Amino acid sequence: MTTHNLWQEEFRNAIRNTKDLELFFEKKFPKLKDYPVFLPKSFAAKVKKLGESGPLWKQFLPDIKEKDAKGFADPIGDQENNTAPQLIHRYKNRALFTPTTICPVLCRYCFRKNELNQKLSLFKPELEKTIQYLEDHPEIEELIFTGGDPFILSDQQLSFYIEQFSKIKSLKYLRFHTRTPVIIPSRVTKNLIALLKKAKNKFNNVSLAIHTNHENEIDTEVKKALLKLKESGVMLLAQTVLLKGVNDSGPTLKTLFSKLIDLGVRPYYLHHPDQAKGTTHFYLELEEGRHIYSQLRDHLPGWAIPSYIIDIPGGEGKVSAFNPETYQFSGNLINRKGEIVKHLTE
Ligand SMILES: *Cc1c(COP(=O)(O)O)cnc(C)c1O
Ligand code: SF4
Repeated sequence: MTTHNLWQEEFRNAIRNTKDLELFFEKKFPKLKDYPVFLPKSFAAKVKKLGESGPLWKQFLPDIKEKDAKGFADPIGDQENNTAPQLIHRYKNRALFTPTTICPVLCRYCFRKNELNQKLSLFKPELEKTIQYLEDHPEIEELIFTGGDPFILSDQQLSFYIEQFSKIKSLKYLRFHTRTPVIIPSRVTKNLIALLKKAKNKFNNVSLAIHTNHENEIDTEVKKALLKLKESGVMLLAQTVLLKGVNDSGPTLKTLFSKLIDLGVRPYYLHHPDQAKGTTHFYLELEEGRHIYSQLRDHLPGWAIPSYIIDIPGGEGKVSAFNPETYQFSGNLINRKGEIVKHLTE
C-alpha cells in the first residue's frame, strides 16, 4: 500500500457501529439510530487518550442527551435556499456547493445532523444543472465546497469538479470548508497539495476553512498537515463552533486561536451553536457567549480574533452575535432587512 491511499484505508476501517465503539473504548454507549457512529480509529485513539472529561469525548461520542426532541431539523434553513442541485444560494455573490453528505467523522453537535442521513434533493447530484445555474447567475463569484466534507472526495473527483468550475468565467474564488485535516491528517497528501496549487492558478483566490474547536485536536500530525497545506499557498482560515462543555471559556479559545495563528491559519468565524435537534446539550445562551468572546480582545491581536456570528433560523443568514454595548440579550435579532426576528421560535 502506498502512502497515497493511507487515508482511504483509515476511512474504510473506521468504527461504524456501537458494538465496535464499545469494544474500542471498553465502555457502554447508547444506541442512537437517528444518527450513527463514525470515527476513524487513529482519531478514536486520541479521543480515548484524553478521556471522558477531555474536550474530544463530548464532541464525538454518542450521548443519551441526543434523544432530546427540542430544536430544529434544519436550523439554518438549508432547504429554503436550495436553489439548484447541490447548491445553496443565499448571499448574492457566493453559493455553497454540497458534493457529498459524507464526513471524516460524525460530530455529535453537527448542525446538519438531521439532514445528512436523509435523501434530500439538496445532495442529489445533477452537475449539468448545477453548472447551468452558476452560468445563469454570473453574480455568483465564489463557490464554497461544503457537505458533508469535500476532502472526503477522491483527488480525481476533486480535480474533476475544479476543472468543470474553472470553465465558468464569473467564478473568481473557490473555498473548501473541511474538518478532514484535523480528523484524518493523512488526507493531506502530496497529490492534494499539487491539486490545490493547480486550483490556485485557475482562480483569483482559493481558501480552506478548517473546522476545529479545541487545541487538543491539533497534535503533531495535524500540525504537519497544516504546514503542508500552508505550503500550497492557499489561504488558510479556521472556523470554530462555540460548544458548552467543550470550549466555552475565554482562555480555551485564546489557546486555540494562538495555536492556529502560529501555524499560519487565521481564525475566521466563531459560530454560536445552532439549535439543531439532538444537539441542544451543547447550547449556551448568547449572554454567555458574549462574555466569553469579549475576553479575547485583551489577549489576541485583532487579526487573530474571529467574527462571532449566529445563523438566524429559517434561512435568514448570518448576523453578528456580539453586541458590544450590552451582554443582555433581548431575545430578538435583527435580520438583513433590518427587521426584528425572534431568535428562538420553538
Ligand atoms: C455561511 C454561508 C456562506 C459563506 O459566507 P461567508 O460569510 O462568506 O463565509 C455562504 N452561503 C451560505 C448559505 C452560508 O450559510
Ligand atoms: S464534519 Fe461538519 S458536517 Fe460533518 S458531522 Fe462534523 S460538523 Fe457535521
